Amino acid sequence: MGEEKKEPYEKVDPRYYSRWYNEVIEDSNLTDKRYPVKGMNIWRPYGWKLMSNIDSKTTGYMKETDHEEVKFPLLIPEDEFQKEADHIKGFGDEVYWVTRAGRNELDVPLLLRPTSETAMYPVFDLWIRSHADLPLKIFQMVNVFRYETKQTRAFTRMREIHFFEAHTCHETAEEAEEQIKEDLEIMDKLAKKLCLPNLQLKRTEWDKFPGAEYTVGVDSLLPTGRLLQIAGIHQYKTNFAEAYDIMYEDIDGEHKHVHQTTYGMSARLVGAIVGIHGDEKGIVLPPEIAPIQVRIIPITYGEKKDDILGYCRGLKEDLEAADIRVDIDDREDVRPGSKFFDSEQKGIPLRIDVGSDELEKETITLVRRDTGSKDEYDSDNIVEKVKEEHHAMEEEMYRKAEEFLEDNIVDVENMSEITEEKVYRIGWCGSRRCGEVVEEKTDRHILGTLYGEEEYQGTCLHCGEEDVEAAYLCKKE
Ligand code: ZN
Repeated sequence: MGEEKKEPYEKVDPRYYSRWYNEVIEDSNLTDKRYPVKGMNIWRPYGWKLMSNIDSKTTGYMKETDHEEVKFPLLIPEDEFQKEADHIKGFGDEVYWVTRAGRNELDVPLLLRPTSETAMYPVFDLWIRSHADLPLKIFQMVNVFRYETKQTRAFTRMREIHFFEAHTCHETAEEAEEQIKEDLEIMDKLAKKLCLPNLQLKRTEWDKFPGAEYTVGVDSLLPTGRLLQIAGIHQYKTNFAEAYDIMYEDIDGEHKHVHQTTYGMSARLVGAIVGIHGDEKGIVLPPEIAPIQVRIIPITYGEKKDDILGYCRGLKEDLEAADIRVDIDDREDVRPGSKFFDSEQKGIPLRIDVGSDELEKETITLVRRDTGSKDEYDSDNIVEKVKEEHHAMEEEMYRKAEEFLEDNIVDVENMSEITEEKVYRIGWCGSRRCGEVVEEKTDRHILGTLYGEEEYQGTCLHCGEEDVEAAYLCKKE
């Protein structure tokens, strides 16, 4: 049997994270950053397949929960955008404007959607008449545009963003609350498949989505010790419904405003996967969404070349028949070492090496990308073995990242203890004043309190009030 290699879980050195991140995403062919507009990158075929696989998982969960897919226009008239005051305040400076068509100045300037509330809600007013039209649950996957002024970064801080957004309308506040819970369940399922353990934090008043009653931010921890928001789930109550006059007639003939929620995610999911699971060899992709789940590498040195290739093609057919995404690296002029390297850079979960030894014994050598473990198996049960290893890899990737997250949450009772790049759990009385003092003194953000119950005993880090809630304090990516 093959050797069993157990390596410690080593994260990429935080000091060189940025450089490492930029290198591995280019080396793996996910994106091309040479497009001549800052913050707007090209999805290369490999990267787009990865994103599409994530999107189709999301679509599956959405359809299971009775959401319907739509596509709204990209451009929004200025007067529609202006209707919800907090929303404009929050997004105003990030908006791209279209002010001219051909040679003509437009009477009403149009903006490129930074998110689609203001595109959709004037139409919801036309779609919703009575309680029979509710709940309304829709989603779309489109590009949104935000004029990011900080240093841009592929997938995580872009000006053109691949975006998922679900919008729902309900009769009552309770139903809208149930929707938030459903969204968080969908998030949990997706996060398992993407191997992205996370914290679901109810944001502070001053950090919630513009126009929302409250926001739950979903944050994953990068090797830098900073939290990256990978999703946002928002309770709007009737805030937007009042601004856009979205009303329904209830069973007693009374006219009422609908209660609304949204759920947003983006290409940041890809950035989080790269950052959290990558290593010194490149990216490591979770099996379920990897564009290539298995790569077969024939190791031929002249003799038996055709037999080995024939054997590899047979293996490929077996795997394809079981709906496993597989390819063969049969390039003639490339040495096996370079092929291994290429497979590692692209983060392909499993590699199957086949040389004359394997051909003779009718076996395969299976190599796992995350641990580097190598094992030899009979070729008869190749499908079963591949599925087993994929499953084991997904579990292991999630578990390791979860352990990293848990190990980096530190309880503190004094601001002077806050010195490292970690997630600090602190006591917070909930007042804006204390929150802002803590944020300023520690140069970190309060990312919120856990959504749901959390056992905690502590005092407010600033005012010393007793028996307060726990809040999470960290730098944001
Ligand atoms: Zn306080």
